[in-house]
Amino acid sequence: MATKKSEVCSFCGRKASEVSLMIEGLDARICDRCAEQAHLILQEQLERDGKNKYPSDITLKKPKEIKDFLDQYVIGQDEAKRTLSVAVYNHYKRISQKVREDEVEIEKSNIILVGETGTGKTLLARTIAKMLNVPFAIADATVLTEAGYVGEDVENILVKLLQAADYDVKAAEKGIVFIDEIDKIARKSDNPSITRDVSGEGVQQALLKLLEGTVSNVPPQGGRKHPEQKMIAVNTKDILFIAGGAFDGIERIIAARKRSNVIGYSSDASKVLDKSNMLKYLAPADLKKFGLIPEIVGRLPIITHLNPLDEDALKRILTEPKNAIVKQFEKLFEMDGIELVIEDEVLDFVVEKAVEFKVGARGLRSIMEAILNDAMFELPSHDETKQFVVTRAYAEEKLDKSEMAKLHAGD
Ligand code: ADP
Repeated sequence: MATKKSEVCSFCGRKASEVSLMIEGLDARICDRCAEQAHLILQEQLERDGKNKYPSDITLKKPKEIKDFLDQYVIGQDEAKRTLSVAVYNHYKRISQKVREDEVEIEKSNIILVGETGTGKTLLARTIAKMLNVPFAIADATVLTEAGYVGEDVENILVKLLQAADYDVKAAEKGIVFIDEIDKIARKSDNPSITRDVSGEGVQQALLKLLEGTVSNVPPQGGRKHPEQKMIAVNTKDILFIAGGAFDGIERIIAARKRSNVIGYSSDASKVLDKSNMLKYLAPADLKKFGLIPEIVGRLPIITHLNPLDEDALKRILTEPKNAIVKQFEKLFEMDGIELVIEDEVLDFVVEKAVEFKVGARGLRSIMEAILNDAMFELPSHDETKQFVVTRAYAEEKLDKSEMAKLHAGD
């Protein structure tokens, strides 16, 4: 039903011609301002009643407490955890700062995590969001394109965050976004005049605005913007962006830089490089050389790296984290009244296979699934079974027959 320009809002009495939007009811109308006001009142009430998904005040923990929390979910990666704990602490301290004109304003510092896939980058970001109880979204940089090209607009990152926040804009504006595979939008050469990789650089430019802090108009349901669509304004000033990427081959760039340093400054020559883990010498210059534009690198000032996971770490991942894979299976069996006993040798076998199939931590769950699938199919119908013991021989037999083993046969 079209609104006549002379019709007034039933709440504030403004005419339709004075407001941007008038929503028609049966015998009443509400203008955009009053609807907004009503929304705020509702949010406040929900918060007072403790019904809001995300509280407006973030209870900030000290860096040591943040690390302790991360330790419960993420194995190893001590250096990354320490750096992240301080960065997150400072970020939320900055948000809670009410800046007066004469005061020092703390600048926003986003984070970049460099490390092989499956080493815990996403897990770290997700765990921090869980601890702070703030909305969290994962964006895949590879599908992002510049506006006007086929793919997803950069703003869609914010749509995901809004959805995670149940469209509570204030909560979303304090949320965390993990941008995965940022290395995939690197331009192919760090010298723009030689090979200009337009798409990579364009996406980086678009992303830069979000990282810096901007008010972005987001189509609530995602997708492309239409002119007649109502947009939600989201300010990214206080959103913490954590970027992650494997940056394959960056070790060579680091090594080359270190070597030229050694030549340049003779005093450095005495320092022995740990060649087994070049990532620990990672510096902003290496990210630039890899193909991130200097402005992006500048907006990701906190750089840290994750180490490859060795067999010992993989085994710990199976059993130690608060929601460890083995604990989850034990719980599933327990719900059928069955005690699941997995012998230690089985864990070694699972780790061996994860290494052999080159699936790392990501594959541990699928291997466990393949081993336990038959038992999970049969046992719920066996009322008399109260305990189920998994031996290495059993695990080998089941995995051998599984799709997973066939998939990796000949690896
Ligand atoms: P990345 O983002 O580095 O590619 P993820 O964080 O997505 O890797 O890890 C994939 C899965 O592997 C996680 O869901 C988790 O189950 C497991 N995992 C990886 N690294 C760790 C770790 N350091 N501690 C515990 N679990 C891990």
